[in-house]
Amino acid sequence: MKKYILSVDQGTTSTRAILFDHEGHVCSMAQREVECLFPKPGWVEADALGIWVSVIDVVNEVLVKENVTMDYVDSIGITNQRETAIVWDKNTGLPVYHAIVWQSRQSVEICEKLEDKKEYIHEKTGLLINPYFSASKIRFILDEIPNGQERAEKGELLFGTVDCWIIYKMTKGKVHATDASNASRTMLYNIYENKWDDDLLKLFNIPKAILPKVLPSSYHYGVASFFSDKVEICGVAGDQQAALFGQTCYEVGESKNTYGTGCFMLLNIGEKPVLSKKGLLTTVAWKIGDKVTYALEGSVFVGGAVVQWLRDQMHLLHDASESEKFAMEVNDTNGMYFVPAFVGLGTPYWDDDARGSAFGMTRGTTKNHFIRACLEAIAYQCKDVFAAMSEENCCLKNLKVDGGATKNKFLMQFQSDILNTEIMLPSCLETTALGVAYLSGLASGFYKDIQEIKSIHSYQAIFKPQMKEEEVNEKYAGWKKAIDATRHYR
Ligand code: ADP
Repeated sequence: MKKYILSVDQGTTSTRAILFDHEGHVCSMAQREVECLFPKPGWVEADALGIWVSVIDVVNEVLVKENVTMDYVDSIGITNQRETAIVWDKNTGLPVYHAIVWQSRQSVEICEKLEDKKEYIHEKTGLLINPYFSASKIRFILDEIPNGQERAEKGELLFGTVDCWIIYKMTKGKVHATDASNASRTMLYNIYENKWDDDLLKLFNIPKAILPKVLPSSYHYGVASFFSDKVEICGVAGDQQAALFGQTCYEVGESKNTYGTGCFMLLNIGEKPVLSKKGLLTTVAWKIGDKVTYALEGSVFVGGAVVQWLRDQMHLLHDASESEKFAMEVNDTNGMYFVPAFVGLGTPYWDDDARGSAFGMTRGTTKNHFIRACLEAIAYQCKDVFAAMSEENCCLKNLKVDGGATKNKFLMQFQSDILNTEIMLPSCLETTALGVAYLSGLASGFYKDIQEIKSIHSYQAIFKPQMKEEEVNEKYAGWKKAIDATRHYR
């Protein structure tokens, strides 16, 4: 009778629940928007209880939609926005402060004070000191609430990333745990020793008592007794790592790129962490049994968002899908480049101050050329990340893709051309939720092994490179010039 795995995908702007069948098909989905709060410029918070209520809602709704009860659910997978920090009272189970969302800059001063420890932190965590990661957010909360430090030291408070908060609530406070992929984004976790790092805890002055237990990503976390006395949580991973797993990137050299608002590329680097000199992060991809798999991660700040900008600010499109049609009406950009550095540039430039720029326009440049240049810019930025990864790890094999902008076939073909690499688009684009469904099913026995998962995983399209090498080189050289000029303009 157990037919489904229930995945909960708690993202920055929405919470979703999906019921997957054994073949990895989406049977039903429910979604709720989650409100972000902006109490001050640069601060981003969310109501942690509201997040939990949204989880309850979508789980109930997805069951109703499929006309089943929890008796039909084999196990539960949880994936989540990463790094977001929640601190709650151990006795009441209520948050003591809003969830501080990963994007929030409110702990920037705490990080600035640790600038001279940059290398030290990188060597332990694989991360670059930045308010993104949870450690400075926890510090901020403990400083902000009355007697925060004292209460934390007495063991009255608990910290968790969003996965941990949901696990705690689903198990009615019985389990305070996170998985290794989420732990590796806190900046308190030593990715070499695979444990909370006492030196880093000292550096941020965070009492160990508030931290959750770190468990494998595919594991029996405990019974989700809030929903059922029979169903266990068996899969947990941060969203990008879950997508890497959902894309079946199980071999060293396999990578995935998600084309959403921004783009996130992760590359499986196997069982040994490698620190990047090119501004890539090193992170735990997942832990299964005793085995930890690592990934390199690179990000593009403005990916699909450039298409939203064309639509909402420039009014050149009615909807995002039109961009493909306009771009295909011309053969090229007529020598034009657009660099969408609206909020600076991510990997490998890490340039906060760069701003968007357009180059090479003539009287003959049309709307179609402009739109095409914007789409090509998404692909060029991803090539920059891909190139940084290739330099760190020469065995980069292929690229699997997901995210909203993969609907754009022009973009996918151009990406394949410019990378000179095959691009694989899976049949199920819900790779994040699918990833934790797979992780959960592996622990529960729903799936026998990874081979079985690979055998059910299928692709809807494979894009093969078609552009001549000289043309690729010429185009990419133009992009590099545009990037240089953008970075010189202040
Ligand atoms: P997120 O999870 O970051 O919200 P999604 O994966 O839902 O993002 O993808 C949404 C993004 O994809 C938007 O930025 C949108 O502009 C872009 N997008 C959607 N459809 C297309 C399309 N056909 N061509 C190009 N971009 C698209």
